[in-house]
Amino acid sequence: MKGGTNKDRRPCPDWCTADHQDPGGSWSCDSGHNWIRNRDGQLAAEATVSWDAFEHRPAVTAYLFPRDAKPDVGSGFAHSRYEAEQMARLIDYAADVPKGVLRQLAADVRESAAVAYPQDEAEAS
Ligand SMILES: [Zn+2]
Repeated sequence: MKGGTNKDRRPCPDWCTADHQDPGGSWSCDSGHNWIRNRDGQLAAEATVSWDAFEHRPAVTAYLFPRDAKPDVGSGFAHSRYEAEQMARLIDYAADVPKGVLRQLAADVRESAAVAYPQDEAEAS
């Protein structure tokens, strides 16, 4: 909230729309929701800025909402202008790539994550 502070007493940035006075309100500063909907009105995507109470810098997040009954959204996070630009390019370029290429890329990302973070996989099971 402009001129306010979050629950950790850090001053809110001008873009914060969160009501931190609400006892059930968010700890995070939030830019609000820029929802993008499909032609049928279903929620398709969202891009937002948030700043968790205990983080040192804000995060830009992009969400994609699946059309079927899958429970989880897909998301990408960026913690710098460079990372946010890279994420925007990825999304832009994906618009021109065949679905099969994107599904293979998703599988390769999961495989790379298992290599990079093997201890996380052991903790999850
Ligand atoms: Zn705030």
